[in-house]
Amino acid sequence: MDNQTKHYDVVVVGGGLAGLSSAAYLASHGKKVALLERGKLGGRAVTLPIKGFNFNFGAHAIYGRDTSILKTFEKELKLDIEWKDFNPYKARYDSGTELSHVPSNVRGLFKTKILSSPGKVVFAWEVFKTMLSIDSGEPHLSIGKWLEKHNINDDVKKMMLTLASSNFFTSEPEQIPSEVFFQYYKRIFTTNKPVAYIGGGWQSLISEFVRVIEANGGEIFEKSKVQNVVVEQDRVKQIQSGDHIYDAREFVFAIPPKELVKVFSETAIENLLSHYAAYKSSKVFVYDIGLSKRVESPFTYIYDRKNQMFITDISYYDETCIPEGGQLLQAIAYLKEDEIGDKEVLDTYKEKIEALYDKHFSGWRENLAVPRVSKSAVVQEVKWNMNQEAMPICFPDLRNTFFAGDWCEGQGQLSELSFSSAYEVSKIILNKS
Ligand SMILES: Cc1cc2nc3c(=O)[nH]c(=O)nc-3n(C[C@H](O)[C@H](O)[C@H](O)COP(=O)(O)OP(=O)(O)OC[C@H]3O[C@@H](n4cnc5c(N)ncnc54)[C@H](O)[C@@H]3O)c2cc1C
Repeated sequence: MDNQTKHYDVVVVGGGLAGLSSAAYLASHGKKVALLERGKLGGRAVTLPIKGFNFNFGAHAIYGRDTSILKTFEKELKLDIEWKDFNPYKARYDSGTELSHVPSNVRGLFKTKILSSPGKVVFAWEVFKTMLSIDSGEPHLSIGKWLEKHNINDDVKKMMLTLASSNFFTSEPEQIPSEVFFQYYKRIFTTNKPVAYIGGGWQSLISEFVRVIEANGGEIFEKSKVQNVVVEQDRVKQIQSGDHIYDAREFVFAIPPKELVKVFSETAIENLLSHYAAYKSSKVFVYDIGLSKRVESPFTYIYDRKNQMFITDISYYDETCIPEGGQLLQAIAYLKEDEIGDKEVLDTYKEKIEALYDKHFSGWRENLAVPRVSKSAVVQEVKWNMNQEAMPICFPDLRNTFFAGDWCEGQGQLSELSFSSAYEVSKIILNKS
C-alpha cells in the first residue's frame, strides 16, 4: 500500500457551505469523512475581520428559515445558531421621491404606496394563488412573459418583479423561469420567518460545521487543491491533491462547474460539465462601510427601486460585527451582464451607493472607519434565465460521485441551494449503505 494514499468512506471536495454541511452530516451518521479545501474554509461565505469590524461577504441572510434546509441541519446536527430575525417594519422601498412599506406581510401590503388599492387586491390574490399552488408557472416561459400572458396589471407586475429582484439578487428578474419563481414564492409566502440573519456571521456557522465534523472523527485538509480524479469504469476511485492520494467509496464534489471541468478532464462527464461551466453567474457590486459611531436612522433596510440596490444595517441585527458604539452598513447593487468588467460603469455604482448612504444615513462620511468594496462578487454561480438550468446532483456515468453547491438542483436560492443539494446527496449516500 502506498504511504501517501489515505482511505475513507467519503471524500468531500470543497470547503464552502455545501461541502462543510455535507461532510458534517455524513460524519455525524458514522461515515469516515475527509474534506479537502484548496484555500481556507467557507468559500464565498467568508467573514473578514478588519480593524475590529467583521465584514461578511453578503448579509448572511437566510430566507424562510423556518422551512429551510439549514433549519433541518440545525435540528439534526444540533448546531448552535443564534437567529436574528429581520424587522419588516424597519424596511422601506425608496422610489426616488417617496418611501414605501415593503409588502413582505399583510400590514406592509396595506400600507405600501407602490400599489394602488385595486393593485393590492390583485397582488394579494396572486400571493394567495401561489400559496395554494394554483399557479406553478409554465415550462419554457419566463416570469416576464408569464406576467404578460396573464395580463397582470402594471403596478402588480412591477411589485412582483421588485420582490424577485431582491430575493434572487438580480437586475433582470423578468428572465427568471416562471416555474423557478413560483416554486420559490410558494415557500416564502408560507413562511413565518421571511428573512433572518445569523448572529456571529458566516464564521459562526462554519465553526459549527467544523465542530461536528471533528467531533465525529472527520478530517479536514485546508490548502489542499484537488487536481484530478482517477476513474475506473463507472466510479471515481481516487483523487489527487499535491503528493497525496485519497481513495473512497463515495465522493462529493462541492466545487463550482468551472473547477469541476479541470478536475474531470478526460473523463466521461467532461463534456457534460463543460456545458454547465459555460453558464453565467449572478454578480453584484458590494460596498460595505464600518463606522466608528452609529448614525441614527429609523430604517434598517432600504431598497432603491430605480437603481436596484439596497442597504442593510447589519450591526442593528448582529452586534458581534462591530467594535463598541460602531455601525456596519452593507450596500449591494445587482449588476447587468454588460456592466461586468466595465470600469467606468462600476465606478458609477460606487457613486450611486454613496448617494444612497448620504440620503438615508447622513453623517456616515464623518464616521467612516473602514470602507470595503468588491466590484463583482459571485452571489450565485447560476444566473437564472431561460437558457441556464441548475446542474444535476449526479450523472449516470459515475455512480459513486455526487455534486452540491449553489449551482446545483435544490430548493431556494443562494446558500439554501448549497444546503439543500448537500443534504440531498448526503441522504443518497447514507441510503446506499
Ligand atoms: C456578496 C454576496 C452576498 C451574499 N449574500 C447572501 C445572503 O445574504 N444569503 C445567502 O443565503 N447567500 C448569500 N450569498 C451566497 C452564498 O455566499 C453562497 O450561495 C454560498 O456561500 C455558496 O457556497 P458553496 O459551498 O455552494 O460554494 P463556494 O462557496 O463557492 O464553495 C466552493 C469551495 O470549493 C473550493 N474549491 C474550488 N476548487 C477546488 C479544488 N480544485 N480543490 C479543493 N477545493 C476547491 C473553493 O475554494 C470554495 O471554498 C452571497 C454571496 C455573495 C458573494
